Amino acid sequence: MRWQGGRRGGGVEDRRGMGGGAVAGGGIGVLVLAAIGYFVFGIDPNTTQQVASQLGGVGQAEQQGRMGTPEDQAGQFVDVIGTNINDVWKAKLNGYTPPTTVIYEQGTTTGCGYGQSAMGPFYCPTDHRVYLDLGFWGEMEKLGGSSADFAKAYVLAHEYGHHVQTLTGASQQVQRAQQQAGSKAEGNRYSVALELQADCYAGVWARNASAASGGQVALEPGDLEAGMKTAQAIGDDALQRRGGGRVSPESFTHGSSAQRVEWLQRGYQTGDPAACDTFAQL
Ligand SMILES: [Zn+2]
Repeated sequence: MRWQGGRRGGGVEDRRGMGGGAVAGGGIGVLVLAAIGYFVFGIDPNTTQQVASQLGGVGQAEQQGRMGTPEDQAGQFVDVIGTNINDVWKAKLNGYTPPTTVIYEQGTTTGCGYGQSAMGPFYCPTDHRVYLDLGFWGEMEKLGGSSADFAKAYVLAHEYGHHVQTLTGASQQVQRAQQQAGSKAEGNRYSVALELQADCYAGVWARNASAASGGQVALEPGDLEAGMKTAQAIGDDALQRRGGGRVSPESFTHGSSAQRVEWLQRGYQTGDPAACDTFAQL
């Protein structure tokens, strides 16, 4: 994927090196956040908990204040891609306002409770922030996804998709519907529709990335396949199989591998958010 030299809008808050791992009462916050787990990118908290504990601590202090330095490629990447995603949505959605992307390590306070890297990237609708621990990109690869830049950008675009859903009111509608749902399985179906729509929105971004940036941010051959591979790897059935458990569709919250690939592809092929009506099938 081409992105170096792309415009940097600066909507990134760098909390790396702030050592959020030792905040008192974090355990309670984690539970709160887990309760709204459908904002998490695609990983069951139990799955990531295991992966994260294998990762261990990241050298913290040394990364402090690196944002904006030439060697901080990851920080620049998040800035350029986030700016590009915003540019696409400004053109697609009337009244679009950008979220802030927070890069953190291990743990941090959020408007939705205490966030931990073990939860994977997530969007908090209360404070309009996307929370991203860059270590997740390594985890994605371990789960069988791709480490290509486009696969990382897909993760980011999916979270921005949840921001769009908060602006359109889709997230709030789903929350209300879930509160009224007669069963857990019914509530999960709403969650799946919301997540697949975020995947579709990621595809919409990918299709319009180049046009919105004058070609500075653009997909290259093989990129879409890398995105598909990642979508495949983080489908609920793939994760359940990987966790050694039985595949139970009624417990899906993000959709199967096939569904995630299908909706990412649909967004990309159409480039139109109107084609992302995942709720029509409910
Ligand atoms: Zn999501």
